[in-house]
Amino acid sequence: MAFAAPPQAAWRSAPAGPSRGGVCGCAASRVWRLCLVVCVAVLLVAGVAAAAQAASDSTFRTPFDARIDALGEHALLTLPPQDLVDSGRQKAARAITDLRHGIFFAWAGAQIWAFAWLWQSGRGAQLRDRLRRLFRSRWAYRAAFGAALGALAPLAGLPLAFVSYRIGFNVGLTEEVIGNWVLDYARGMLADAAFAAAAVALVLELVDRTRLWYLFFLTILFAVSIEIVGVAPVLFAPLSTRYVRLQIAAAAPVEMANSSVRSQNVDAWTAGIGRFTRIILSDVLVSVATKPEIAYVVAHENAHVEHNDDLKKALIAITMFVLAVAFAVLISDRITFRRDDDAVSRLALVAACLGGVALLMFPLFNAYARGIEYRADEDSRKLLGDEAPAVRYLVRSADHDLIPLCNRRSTSWYFADYPALGSRIAAMRRTEDPCPHSPATR
Ligand SMILES: [Zn+2]
Repeated sequence: MAFAAPPQAAWRSAPAGPSRGGVCGCAASRVWRLCLVVCVAVLLVAGVAAAAQAASDSTFRTPFDARIDALGEHALLTLPPQDLVDSGRQKAARAITDLRHGIFFAWAGAQIWAFAWLWQSGRGAQLRDRLRRLFRSRWAYRAAFGAALGALAPLAGLPLAFVSYRIGFNVGLTEEVIGNWVLDYARGMLADAAFAAAAVALVLELVDRTRLWYLFFLTILFAVSIEIVGVAPVLFAPLSTRYVRLQIAAAAPVEMANSSVRSQNVDAWTAGIGRFTRIILSDVLVSVATKPEIAYVVAHENAHVEHNDDLKKALIAITMFVLAVAFAVLISDRITFRRDDDAVSRLALVAACLGGVALLMFPLFNAYARGIEYRADEDSRKLLGDEAPAVRYLVRSADHDLIPLCNRRSTSWYFADYPALGSRIAAMRRTEDPCPHSPATR
């Protein structure tokens, strides 16, 4: 549950498959496995190295933090939110947000175009034939085709993801150097390729074996996804981030992450399900915020834990993914077949349609995410009985992380997965909402 985090790029990219034609199937699959193992090992080592480069003793304070510390309680509780934030920073925040939203559509469009091109140009069918010659096993060539699809999306989106990263770097939202960013991107890319390989091989095999394939697939998809989301903070996150347990009492263990290696945001979030749940505070937040602010942030995250929000969000996201796939298959079925098409090569067309449907469904998920943020704020307000630290934290988020106090109309219904900071301040203090496009509080 990102506390105030920008939407994350979901698709990244993986190294292209090896090889020349004419290699025997078993040798080729050994080479392929070896490459995969080497890649995973390199990326894990790189991840641990990045984690070790923790900024444990550095300070992340900006001149804006001193100004926010000096704001009196009376001012925090009575002044209009726009008078509490720095007006110059707000102007920059609005410009950067607009720019990044434009880049988001270009980034998504580049991936959809890449899939459509792969199918339309016949390259998808050629790739399928080449992989079929290379790998004797049906499982292997289908998985390799899936991995290629999983790698294509992040490759197509790479230039725009890089531009977005450099914008963040230039305005101080991240201090991650290019080498580490590329390693992070490559790690995500490898995960995408592995997921797509497994999903494609599994679905096509189930389709071959049973007419009730979708029932089996849904069961496996939900079970595996929930399992992965559930254990992520304990099993996967420590591979690339270092965590330190904090002595703060809450519904789940509270840990500090060295997230400053990637982001300078004053963030906090919850992760995991059941006994693996963790409340995670960024080292930047712990370094710059006052103790009462941290108490508010922990109380807010505590509400997410008590309401099982991570589990609910994961279930909703998987259900929406399943619906999006169903719509994508329906749409692609209405598009004329090419002569060289089969169920494998046509997956590129399905992926292009899936991208389009996902863009349309994106605001539905965000609407749900925004609702649970208001509830978590309200729970923390009741628990602490003091609104000033919450307002101070929200003002700090706006200045420190360059977040607009109010959203444009398009942002408030499409992009925003949390309510506008100005609306949250108003809801917290029971004062008038300064944001004209925040429907949830009006
Ligand atoms: Zn939250």
